[in-house]
Amino acid sequence: MPFTLPALAYDVAALEPHIDAATMTIHHGKHHAAYVTNANNALNDHSALQALSAEALLAKISDTPDSIRQALINNVGGHVNHTMFWELMTPGGSKVPTGTLSVAITNTFGGLDQLKAAVNDAGMKRFGSGWSWLVSDAAGTLKVISTANQDSPLMQGLTPILGVDVWEHAYYLNYQNRRADYLAAWWNIVNWDVVAKKYGR
Ligand code: MN
Repeated sequence: MPFTLPALAYDVAALEPHIDAATMTIHHGKHHAAYVTNANNALNDHSALQALSAEALLAKISDTPDSIRQALINNVGGHVNHTMFWELMTPGGSKVPTGTLSVAITNTFGGLDQLKAAVNDAGMKRFGSGWSWLVSDAAGTLKVISTANQDSPLMQGLTPILGVDVWEHAYYLNYQNRRADYLAAWWNIVNWDVVAKKYGR
């Protein structure tokens, strides 16, 4: 089986009050686990594809067989998106962006507050399930985008460096319909050191 569910680097209750323990338990242990199981199942009869990383599969998604492509988009996408999501969060958050990431955010958006507003806006405008992202293109140019379902920015040739899950399963137990409150709270637990590392410039 190519993919396994990664352990969380913190306790399920560690992100409270911003994300509650019950949401974390179900989101990681049920939702993410199901993406891993279903991604592995989709690759069962495709040993050559099993040798590729999840990221490489998504970057080359148009080369995958028609019969499993949507399953890979949904489940390899779900696996990669959630693995990143857990890594992006840390109890108490991590200060603010530093170094080249901070410079790029200021140059592109005007500042951190404007970046947050753009990510929140994309998250609010995502109708139904999906993600709001800060992505980098090959030249290092930053952009905020939103994708539906588990579609990964990697499928568009873009590198996700920050992403917030706006599926209802990410917030409904604690926030019900208040997606805006969830998005506002989420910034308190962002690990900017990880974002900067993913930007890698
Ligand atoms: Mn999710």
